This record gives sequence, structure tokens and C-alpha cells, in this order.
Amino acid sequence: MSNLSSKLFAEAKKYIPGGVNSPVRAFRNVGGEPFFVRRAKGCRITDVDDKTYIDYIGSWGPNILGHAPVEVISAIHQTAKNGISFGIPCPAEVEMAKTITEWVPSVEKVRMTSSGTEATMSAIRLARGFTSRDFIVKFDGCYHGHSDSLLVAAGSGALTHGEPNSAGVPKSFAEKTIVLPYNDPEALTKLFEEMGEQIAAIIVESYPANAGLVFPREGYLELLSSITKKHGALLIFDEVMTGFRLGKAGVQGLENLTPDLSCFGKVIGGGLPVGAFGGRADVMDFLAPDGPVYHAGTLSGNPLAMAAGLTQLRQLGSGKPDGFGKLEHVGAHFEAGLRALMEKKGVPHRINRVGSMFCLFFTDREIINVDDVMKQDMDFFKKFFHACLDKGVYIAPSPYETGFLSTAHSIDDIDETLNVFEDALSEI
Ligand SMILES: *Cc1c(COP(=O)(O)O)cnc(C)c1O
Repeated sequence: MSNLSSKLFAEAKKYIPGGVNSPVRAFRNVGGEPFFVRRAKGCRITDVDDKTYIDYIGSWGPNILGHAPVEVISAIHQTAKNGISFGIPCPAEVEMAKTITEWVPSVEKVRMTSSGTEATMSAIRLARGFTSRDFIVKFDGCYHGHSDSLLVAAGSGALTHGEPNSAGVPKSFAEKTIVLPYNDPEALTKLFEEMGEQIAAIIVESYPANAGLVFPREGYLELLSSITKKHGALLIFDEVMTGFRLGKAGVQGLENLTPDLSCFGKVIGGGLPVGAFGGRADVMDFLAPDGPVYHAGTLSGNPLAMAAGLTQLRQLGSGKPDGFGKLEHVGAHFEAGLRALMEKKGVPHRINRVGSMFCLFFTDREIINVDDVMKQDMDFFKKFFHACLDKGVYIAPSPYETGFLSTAHSIDDIDETLNVFEDALSEI
């Protein structure tokens, strides 16, 4: 690993646990050391040793217009001149809420937060408060941020009361979270038959994208919707990753579904720390100060974050085709090229892609849930990752992450990337 990055990482490890502020950045899934970034522009990111990479992470999703888009930078400049945070209402909050409710029909009212974690944490508290029930259901392999109730893994036994997925999560919290296998309608139906009246909500990643990218089987999302309705539970769509990335109304727009509550983050903040949760007005009105469920935030809805997020959304929503149309065009080109390359090289693979999100699996198993994702050739992935990095393409340093395109990725950038992939595969 190059010089300055290596020195910085050694120093970082003295003062920051593991040298990083979020674990995936430490490259533990691929070995080696992370590079430190000096600057980034468009689809390219440059490290402190002046090596430039084509970036397929985009800060893990927020940077859908690429790095440092002029419109967002300018909005941040202009807004900051008048103050950074007030802790009392500002007009941009209303504008943001209005935009979200116009773009996402299921959202009648919305609250801002400062991260996706806060959004999902608050949404499940709200669901519990609204239904006066304690249990929530999540799915194995879905990630919803790092709050206690959601850092839960499937336990053993038929009715899977969860086990803490992290030290420090009390068993008694985890027991209120039931973890089911994804894409398994029988398990879901059985659970609701046995204890449907105690379940406050199902929370699901609208398209699970934190353990590979996995698509729901035909009718599965509709089942989540009908079964919650039947038993008086709420359906929470976690669209922190997919919201405002796969179209104006996210996955619910693509699938024509109406969840009771939805969570957002990433793209909605334009690269600043932002999240949001919203949905049915009668449910949202259970929040303080009108209702009994507490939710707050010193920096929630601050003008800087609202300006960055709103500018990014407006940019995406404008033009002909709009940003989503452009992303689909580039995404389809990438997918076709990637399939052709893998076939040419005879590499066992599966490719899942929707719009600007993609995942390449080194396996020929069908990908139905996280178990299938874990059975891919991890060693091959590690070699592929490092060969690509070496040649100037930065894909996620973990076989469990989804890749992201931005509107700054051109067809030429994609073709350059496919050439790098081909060279990398030749070396392995
Ligand atoms: C990233 C993510 C979160 C957590 O958001 P943070 O802003 O990192 O707290 C929650 N849910 C999903 C689906 C995510 O992808």
C-alpha cells in the first residue's frame, strides 16, 4: 500500500478504534489497508498519494450526482452564509417535507433526522407506540442501521426470537425482534398465524442491498403488505438506500405498493448527514408534540442539510430524460457489458441490477437470500477487488455490498471500467 495512506492509517489506529469511523472502511473483508482520500470529483476519487480511481461506492449511496456536484456545493455555500443551524424552524424544512410528500405518495407527513439509523429507530418506536404492541419482525440479511432493536440476528429454534448481533445489546431487547428468512412466504404466514396480534410492524429493506443485492420473489412484497394489514401491524419500508435512487418514489413506486411508514437517508441528504421517516398522517401524528411517541434531534432539518438534499433531489428530478432515466441508461450498458465479459472469461457469476444499483456475485447459485450470497467464492472476490484497485477501479471492499453508479459515470467511464475488469480477471 502506498506511502502516505499507510502512514495515516497507522496514526489513525492510535486514536480511532480500528483506525476508522465505520467498520467496513477498514478493508477487513478483503485484507490490506484502506486508502485515504484527498479529493473527489465526478465519478473519480483521488487518494493522498495522488492515485485516482473510478469510484463505484459514492460514499455508500448519497453521491448520486457524483462527487462534488457544482449545484450542491453552491447551495451549501449560499445557505451557510446565513447560518448553519438554528434549532428553530426554517423554510427549507417545509420545502423538503413538501417535496418528499409530492414524490412519494404513501408519505403524507414526514420527520427529518440526521441519519438513516435514527430514521429506522424512530419508525419502529412509532410503530410500537401506535399499535401498543412490542414485537417487530425483520429479515435475515437486512440492515437497518445500528440501533439496539435492529442489531439482531436470527436465533435458533422454530420461532426465531432474535439474538443480539453485537455485544452490548441486551438479550431482552433482541427478544422483541423476530428474525425471519427473506423470500420465505411460509415462514411469514406461520409466524403471523401464531402471534400476529402481538406484532407491531414488519421492517424490510425494500430491495435488500446490504448483503448483496437481493430481489423479492413475485408476490412477496404484496404478501408483506396484506398480512400486516390483516393483523393490524404496520409495514415499514426501509428505503434509506433505494429512496430517491430508484426513481422519485423508490421501490414502492416501482412496485406500486403503499407501506404505512417509510425510512429515507443517503441520497436525500446530498452527502450531508440526513435521514427521514414518514408515512400515514394518522400514524405520524402519534409523534410528540401532538402524540405520545418521543422523537427529537438538535440538528434535524438544519438549513444546510435541507439545502444540499433539496438541490440534489431537484437536479435528479429535472431534465429529459431525468436523472433516473440517465442512470438506467448507463446501468443497462454496464450490466450488458459485465455479463458479456463474465461469459467470455468463463467466470461463474450472477448479476443483480436495478437502475444505478448493481451486485456481481461469483457463484452460479440463484440468489434468493443471504445464505446464497454467503456461498459465493469469497477468495476470488478478494483477488478481483485488489486487482481492480491496483488498476484504478474502486469497488466496495466487501462481497456483501451493492455498487452504485452516479449521473457522473459516462458510457466511456463504464467501458474503461470493463477493460480494467477484463485485465483483472486475466490476472487471477
Ligand atoms: C445505510 C442504511 C441505513 C443506515 O443509515 P445511516 O445513515 O448509515 O445510519 C439503514 N438502512 C439501510 C437500508 C441502509 O442502507
